[in-house]
Amino acid sequence: MNRERIGWTGLGNMGTPMVKNLLKAGYTVEAFNRTREKEQEAIEAGATSAADLKTLGANNDVVFVMVSDDEASKEIFSTENGLLSGDVSGRLFINVSTVSPDTSKHINELCISKKATFLEAPVSGSVKPAQDGTLIILAGGEKSDYERAEPIFKNLSKMSVLLGAVGTGASAKLAINYFLALTVQGLAETVQFATDSGVDAADMLNIINEGAVGSAITKLKTPSILNNDFPAAFALKHMFKDLRLAKEQQLNSPLSTPLYESFKAANNDGLGNSDLMAIYKHLKK
Ligand code: NAP
Repeated sequence: MNRERIGWTGLGNMGTPMVKNLLKAGYTVEAFNRTREKEQEAIEAGATSAADLKTLGANNDVVFVMVSDDEASKEIFSTENGLLSGDVSGRLFINVSTVSPDTSKHINELCISKKATFLEAPVSGSVKPAQDGTLIILAGGEKSDYERAEPIFKNLSKMSVLLGAVGTGASAKLAINYFLALTVQGLAETVQFATDSGVDAADMLNIINEGAVGSAITKLKTPSILNNDFPAAFALKHMFKDLRLAKEQQLNSPLSTPLYESFKAANNDGLGNSDLMAIYKHLKK
């Protein structure tokens, strides 16, 4: 049995497989999800269920948060009725959600005010790497906190890196997701262009995947395009949120505005809960 008791809130597409890997590694995990039924899979894998966020924060040594966005993170880290509302001195809080650098810095201050410590640790990689424990963790914070978290990170990731102070991890995450959005948009536009010109989609995807521009992501998304089926691994609404955060960080490069507008239109089109590759479905319209 590993020594640090782990608390975890946010049992969505990413949180649940990550918790299962920690349980597999022998950690005790206490879990809490706003929609309580979604705790079931983690409980069946050996987690216990916390009464509320206050208990989760006070009962555990290291507490992870994996929720949608800035608003959800701020709500969860509330000192009134959230994770930080009890006695949390000496606890380490780790936000693995994707949020803005400013939100990360705000949460860091709240943790310090409660004599706890904080690491931001957004992850690169989707559901499959979360299941396989092969995520890439982009941390920002104090070295001592990072070293405390490292043995836990080893069960979630193939690589973790401490980039600097709180804010640097969030910035790196927004940057890598910009590249991901460019790739997915580029793949969708390319297949659309080819099929409009009479080329079969399967042939075009084969050419892409066997050539130098083929990548893990183009291969992963190929079945979705061919089957016109986009179950969310990484929901399009979350990518839209990440592009909005990047724009708020003054990303003004030539493709950033049309890319942002494309995901915004797809989200408004009702595709937010589909996988981000549903940008293809949006373009086809
Ligand atoms: P998801 O499946 O949509 O799950 C979102 C989680 O956030 C759920 O547990 C949800 O609780 C919780 N939540 C949302 N608003 C909340 C609030 N106001 N208070 C409390 N809980 C709240 O999302 P996901 O795909 O796991 O992604 C989680 C985070 O990881 C996001 O920041 C995303 O950008 C990032 N990320 C995702 C991927 C990916 O491929 N999916 C990859 C890397 C990073 P309920 O069940 O009650 O709704």
